[in-house]
Amino acid sequence: MKLSSKLTRKKHSHPLFQNPTPMFQRKPKAALISLVRNSELEGIEQSMRHLEARFNHKYNYPWIFFNDVPFDDTFKARTKNLTNAECIYATVPESHWSLPKWIDESRFISSLEYLGAIGVGKGWMISYRHMCRWNSGFFYKHPVLDDFDWYWRVEPDVHFFCDIDYDPFVFMEENNLKYGFNINILDDARSFPSMWRQTQEFMSEYPELIHPEADFSWVIDHKNDGEYNNCQFFSNFEIGSLNFFRSKTYNTYFDYIDRKGGFYYERYGDAPLHTLAVVLFLSKRYQHDINKQCPATLHDKCSCEPTNLDENFYKLVPMESPQKKPEDSCIRLWLGGEWLERDDAGQYVKTGYEF
Ligand code: GDP
Ligand code: MN
Repeated sequence: MKLSSKLTRKKHSHPLFQNPTPMFQRKPKAALISLVRNSELEGIEQSMRHLEARFNHKYNYPWIFFNDVPFDDTFKARTKNLTNAECIYATVPESHWSLPKWIDESRFISSLEYLGAIGVGKGWMISYRHMCRWNSGFFYKHPVLDDFDWYWRVEPDVHFFCDIDYDPFVFMEENNLKYGFNINILDDARSFPSMWRQTQEFMSEYPELIHPEADFSWVIDHKNDGEYNNCQFFSNFEIGSLNFFRSKTYNTYFDYIDRKGGFYYERYGDAPLHTLAVVLFLSKRYQHDINKQCPATLHDKCSCEPTNLDENFYKLVPMESPQKKPEDSCIRLWLGGEWLERDDAGQYVKTGYEF
């Protein structure tokens, strides 16, 4: 299911790479995609400089920029200037970025006020709701992606600290993976209190859609009535199969959730939705390397201080939130097995620095 962790593996260190099959030597149909505003030009320039220097100058995957309004000429000229790859500028159709007709507007306005008042991040912003819904159920429907199989999502103002000297798209294609992440952390549960219940209802209505090897154990908090523990793959950095998102299965799930209105009555994020979809519809059968935001093993290829395995686990959950936190970090829950073992003093047996 996934390319775990850092997109920073040593070249050909994985046994699967030692005998590449000729079948896979064609270039994957992949794109770097970014939803971005004209006003975020400097932020996207920063992200492009990093990703071009660390990865894309060797691979030249096209950049596809999405916006709810047309890009201006300055944006186009300055982004084109940072890459040798093709740049494509796409406008999101209004029907993909507006309130669906089944949404009760006054209930939506109350939610903006309420989530704003209790301090949920960007809880008061209308555009943020459209953005989360677009990233959940619309990006892969844009015709500009019709000829592509893979996407790598890039946000403005992100940093890539390590050289990526292999092609994650080839890696995913060769290993038949559908979804890759490099950060797995808790989300603020106040933004999507009904998502898990609706997902359970979906599962009982459509049991045939659930993957026979689906592994829920790592997203369920057994010490908290079997509730969702709010762990999420942080979708800001995801790499995924467009065909997975185009599938009837995924769209049945998206439509089911969308109809309930939680993108507007609450503030459903695309990250927990993508996470639950990956949990429901894919088998968990791959682990690339442990998950680190700055791996200690690649010091000569990175410009960052090595991070701890559990780093940033709580980052999105504010102090004032009453949310119950699982006893292990999301990444340890996902890794499972020996990563959850503790010694008599309660310390983890594996620290993540073993490699
Ligand atoms: P966060 O990462 O959850 O805090 O959300 P951001 O505010 O960073 O938004 C996520 C991504 O969507 C970023 O790439 C933003 O540039 C983009 N984005 C968010 N809102 C809008 C919008 O209204 N218009 C456009 N064009 N992009 C947006
Ligand atoms: Mn962001």
